[in-house]
Amino acid sequence: MIEETSILIIYTGGTIGMITDKNTGVLVPFNFNNINNQIPELNRFNFKLDFVCFDPILDSSNMNPKIWSELAQIIKNNYEEYDGFVVLHGSDTMAYTASALSFMLENLNKPVVFTGSQLPLGVLRTDGRENLITSIEIASDKIDETPIVPEVCIYFENHLMRANRTTKYNAENFNAFVSGNLPLLADVGISIKYNKNIILKPNFKKLKIHKKMDSNVAFLKLFPGISEEFIDSFLDIQGLKAVVMESFGSGNAPSEKWFINKLKNANDKGIIVLNVTQCLSGSVEHGKYETSVGLETSGVISGGDITPEAAITKLMYLLGEGYDRETIRKLLSKSLRGEVTVC
Ligand code: ASP
Repeated sequence: MIEETSILIIYTGGTIGMITDKNTGVLVPFNFNNINNQIPELNRFNFKLDFVCFDPILDSSNMNPKIWSELAQIIKNNYEEYDGFVVLHGSDTMAYTASALSFMLENLNKPVVFTGSQLPLGVLRTDGRENLITSIEIASDKIDETPIVPEVCIYFENHLMRANRTTKYNAENFNAFVSGNLPLLADVGISIKYNKNIILKPNFKKLKIHKKMDSNVAFLKLFPGISEEFIDSFLDIQGLKAVVMESFGSGNAPSEKWFINKLKNANDKGIIVLNVTQCLSGSVEHGKYETSVGLETSGVISGGDITPEAAITKLMYLLGEGYDRETIRKLLSKSLRGEVTVC
């Protein structure tokens, strides 16, 4: 008997699951039990396709770590029963949720493919139909019984990307995401061309989920003219444990004494400061320019080529695990789920 492929589709919300209400003309979520009416092509998969729908469904701007934990738990509960998972999610914060899940799911050996769309499935010109159908195909693809992409990834408009390398950079185009520092995991045209050298290898260990995410973290986006008062009140945030500092170019920041001293004081107080670049591509290189030399001496950690989304969710995860400061500093320089290039 041929074993049936089984994929679980988890709908969290977002544009993809919307149709236009006939009476009001407003976009409203549609009932996922009727998805086969929306996309009859799904009947042509020779798969077991099951659906879980979040209640309530969410615009992804309302995502939070509690919901990430629920998502991780759903995947864990269904892990043995399904060959792969497709998560339908609003595109606005998809890179955050998908990055978070990459850290929360340790020893993942099955595909978890996030997708969504810029136009709702109920709209004739929707990009959602192709995104969903191809994501299902990717989630089910295997070679010799082993999934081809055993990692958390994002599929959008012909591109399969590692989730924790991805940023939403376009609010208008179907091609909404960029993976600035890692080549695509697959390029999709007539065929799906997998980039097997880059895709993570399965380790065949038991899935372990980490559900505690510590939100005592914040972004500090630098800009010319940033004031002492702003930095003071920012670093004074009650309970602040870690900061992702978004710096200029290859990790540069003001070299003025007051600025460096404030970062050093924050570090002495126990606040972890991780330096990432504001650029969509490229890496932090402490010491390349004089304007980053002081950062290193004040205890700021280089984030290398990590994305801001992966940086903040990695910190939430490491703090949530309760590691001490030194261990967190060490783990920030390591690649845990392929999120950073380590030379
Ligand atoms: N605002 C929507 C969301 O992120 C946009 C989308 O689905 O693409 O939920």
